Amino acid sequence: MLKGQIISNISNLYQVETENRIIECTPRGKIKQSEISPVVGDYVEIEVLENENNKGVICNILERSMYSKRPKMSNLTQIILVISLKSPKPDYLLLDKQLVYAEYLNIKPVICINKIDLGNEKQMQEIHEIYEKIGYTVINTNAKEKQGIENLKKILNNEITAFSGNSGVGKSTLINSLFKENKTEEGLISKKNQRGKNTTTSVTLYKIENGYIADTPGFSTFSVEEIESKNLSKYFIEFEKYLNNCEYADCKHEKEENCGIKKAVEEGNISLGRYERYLKIKAELKDKEEHKW
Ligand code: GDP
Ligand code: ZN
Repeated sequence: MLKGQIISNISNLYQVETENRIIECTPRGKIKQSEISPVVGDYVEIEVLENENNKGVICNILERSMYSKRPKMSNLTQIILVISLKSPKPDYLLLDKQLVYAEYLNIKPVICINKIDLGNEKQMQEIHEIYEKIGYTVINTNAKEKQGIENLKKILNNEITAFSGNSGVGKSTLINSLFKENKTEEGLISKKNQRGKNTTTSVTLYKIENGYIADTPGFSTFSVEEIESKNLSKYFIEFEKYLNNCEYADCKHEKEENCGIKKAVEEGNISLGRYERYLKIKAELKDKEEHKW
């Protein structure tokens, strides 16, 4: 039995990367019948059936550290939330939704401010201030001129990373800039399989120097819809410190008096913008819950 990781899935064929080669696998009958079907990102145990042809079967799916339904994949460890300073201008609401979703999935979010060449220095500083204060990493890039790419690469070390952000913020340019500098590297994935030359529409993991990038075509952003509105405050991580100051244990931090969160906002310890977006996201989630049936 060999261990490997699924790096792509086209119809019912899975490319499984093992220590020294890629084996094309189908799932064994037992797996087909079970409720869990293999997805890209899964660590699996396989049996090689045709050694010369690199073909085999997936016998077992190992426990997942995370699972995302849309896009369907597992074992992501990190998500880079890309915003651009201009064209399009920063979408804070989307950024906060994505941060919430990363917290919910329990993966590490990193904020990447791209197009700093077009930028408004003041706004860039503001983004750093708001989000670094909470504890998030914020990096700057100019993907077009490859500024900040070395720093980005360091962040990708030993992680399986997806990129998320509105269309036009520069995700593809960023990802491609990671590969170009890599051209001479010998990877497990042959050059012809490198990003951009592949027509697959499903999630694919690409090996980079010291980690993997998940290309998620068709999903520029992840969806927060799975989160219950009543749990939202848990995922605004800077709220936690102040929850004990709420008078009511079930405080919604909306209209209540003696709310620790609202007090922290008044005192400038929680960003007003973040709090307002909390209310907005909560209202949206509630609305969805009420119209579900
Ligand atoms: P995506 O939709 O997020 O994948 O965005 P793209 O990577 O396709 O980039 C959208 C446009 O922005 C393209 O015309 C890029 O050349 C341009 N672009 C990307 N990064 C930068 C940057 O850092 N600075 C500038 N000025 N333009 C950029
Ligand atoms: Zn409260």
